[in-house]
Amino acid sequence: MRASYDTYQKVAEHCSAYEPTTGRSSVSNSYSEPAVSCTTCRHFDPEKYCRLDLYDKIVKNHELG
Ligand code: SF4
Repeated sequence: MRASYDTYQKVAEHCSAYEPTTGRSSVSNSYSEPAVSCTTCRHFDPEKYCRLDLYDKIVKNHELG
C-alpha cells in the first residue's frame, strides 16, 4: 500500500467515520490539536490499516494516494 502522511490526511478528510483518538479537551490548546488524519483516528490500527476497511475504498473513490 502506498501511504504517505499526506494521503492519510486526505483520506481522513473524506472519511465519515473519522474519530480522533484524543477527545477534544475543554482546555483551549489548539497548538496540540492533532491534524485530521488516519493516524489520529481511533479506527486506525497500530499495524497501519483501517479496522473498518474504509481506507482503500476512499483512496479509490477519490483517487488519492
Ligand atoms: S482509519 Fe479508517 S475510519 Fe479512520 S479516518 Fe482512516 S479510513 Fe476513516
